[in-house]
Amino acid sequence: MFVLTETNSIANHFMAELRDVTIQNDSMRFRKNMERLGEILAYEISKLLPYQPATVQTPLAIATTHLLSQQPVLVTILRASLPFHQGFLNVFDKAENAFIGAYRGKHRADETFDIQMDYLACPDLSDKTIIMIDPMLATGKSLLKSYEALLAHGKPARTIIVSAIAAPEGVKFLQENLPNTELFLGTIDEKLNSKYYIVPGLGDAGDLAYGEKL
Ligand code: URA
Repeated sequence: MFVLTETNSIANHFMAELRDVTIQNDSMRFRKNMERLGEILAYEISKLLPYQPATVQTPLAIATTHLLSQQPVLVTILRASLPFHQGFLNVFDKAENAFIGAYRGKHRADETFDIQMDYLACPDLSDKTIIMIDPMLATGKSLLKSYEALLAHGKPARTIIVSAIAAPEGVKFLQENLPNTELFLGTIDEKLNSKYYIVPGLGDAGDLAYGEKL
């Protein structure tokens, strides 16, 4: 498991602004900070992907380098993930993309809920590296349900799950239920509250990026 904020970097500033009630209501700034965090996490992941030797013809000679052996597939859970996804796409600009509509159904009296899923647009995933992008890892249930739905499109060789902020409960759930996936996190917070929001967290990432829903 990789946790970005275990090492101090400029990413701490982006995270602080995402959380700060006096700044986060500037939705353009919120989206931009989420995008910048996505770029940094994508760069960290890029260090751990396989590369192969390649040559590039410059105007003067041939340069040697190593380029990605295969592009990852970026999988995004609508709608809160979109700015985070854009950060990944800025870095992996040749990646294929998949989109999933997964959201919390109506909360019951005891605040429990089921995950509803109603949209999936996905390329062939067979033997590919997929990066599942969800800014808030709360219970982990939508990620599990999304992963299971993705399998209808081929079995990925490698699955990396990325979140800006994770709750310890969600991390444990994914480690138990998706043990073969790798976790890349911005930070791990204290806990989930009774409504399954991350504390201290930042509030509702989708609403902050795109406005409140009914
Ligand atoms: N989704 C959010 O947007 N915020 C949380 O704290 C948990 C899930």
